[in-house]
Amino acid sequence: MRVTRVGARLTPSLYNGRVSSIPLIELENVTVQRGPRVALDGVTLSIGQGEHVAILGPNGSGKSTLMKLISRDLYPRLKPEPWSLRILGSERWDLFDLRSRLGLVSNDWMQMCTRNYSGLEIVLSGFFGSVGIWPYHAVTPEMEATAREAMETLDIAHLADRSTDHMSSGEARRFLIARSLVHAPQALMLDEPTTSLDLRATRELRETLSKLARRGIGIIMVTHHLPDIIPEMERVVTIRHGRIACDGAKRDVLQADVLGELFDTPVEVLERGGYYHVL
Ligand code: ADP
Ligand code: MG
Repeated sequence: MRVTRVGARLTPSLYNGRVSSIPLIELENVTVQRGPRVALDGVTLSIGQGEHVAILGPNGSGKSTLMKLISRDLYPRLKPEPWSLRILGSERWDLFDLRSRLGLVSNDWMQMCTRNYSGLEIVLSGFFGSVGIWPYHAVTPEMEATAREAMETLDIAHLADRSTDHMSSGEARRFLIARSLVHAPQALMLDEPTTSLDLRATRELRETLSKLARRGIGIIMVTHHLPDIIPEMERVVTIRHGRIACDGAKRDVLQADVLGELFDTPVEVLERGGYYHVL
């Protein structure tokens, strides 16, 4: 098995002895309207710093909406009932600052980043919140060193000069994760990260996420696929029709009756080597 290193530059401040009891994410009674639909309906959820959480639900249940709400790509409906949305205790955030603290890896970003830019440029662009590097971006030697360290961590340093549109889905996804690591985020937020990856790329990505989790980077992952839930994730939140259905310890939530109701189909659950599968 390959050994992945997470260097000091990429280690979140949380890991340097500044663990705080302020939640990373705190939603109270948040509703999000998307067109005619209520995509999230009165959601209350708190995720602590350094916590590893899977958010599980069927297609259309509101998972991506929740991620986009946290990253401020979507906003809550201003309805009469009181609601609040805090990240690290604060309701107001500079978008660039927020997205540096929470490394976002979504399929929308995959599409934006899979272009005629080199892998190194994609990782460096994380410093500027851009896609690709332009002449007016002042890349410092320090930035390049951090970007190269992020690529080493993700085992993609040898692909630094390759154009992202000539990479496999698994390689491109790793560059996107490396891009989000350059600011030493407190958490990575991943929306269905194994979509379109083959078996080997999927396994390698899970192992990498486990290593990042063990080094203190919170992993918050949205998925409808049980084996994506890495062993380090102790908490599972289920979401159905825009509402939180269950929130608890993994072994309690990943039960046949809970999952059968969540996905509206009979299932059997099998646990092997810390991973869960449905039959
Ligand atoms: P999930 O990620 O769990 O599959 P989403 O958060 O993408 O679900 O979608 C939740 C609900 O919001 C669905 O009913 C979906 O049809 C609706 N929705 C998603 N994207 C849009 C959009 N761009 N415009 C209008 N409705 C949307
Ligand atoms: Mg989605």
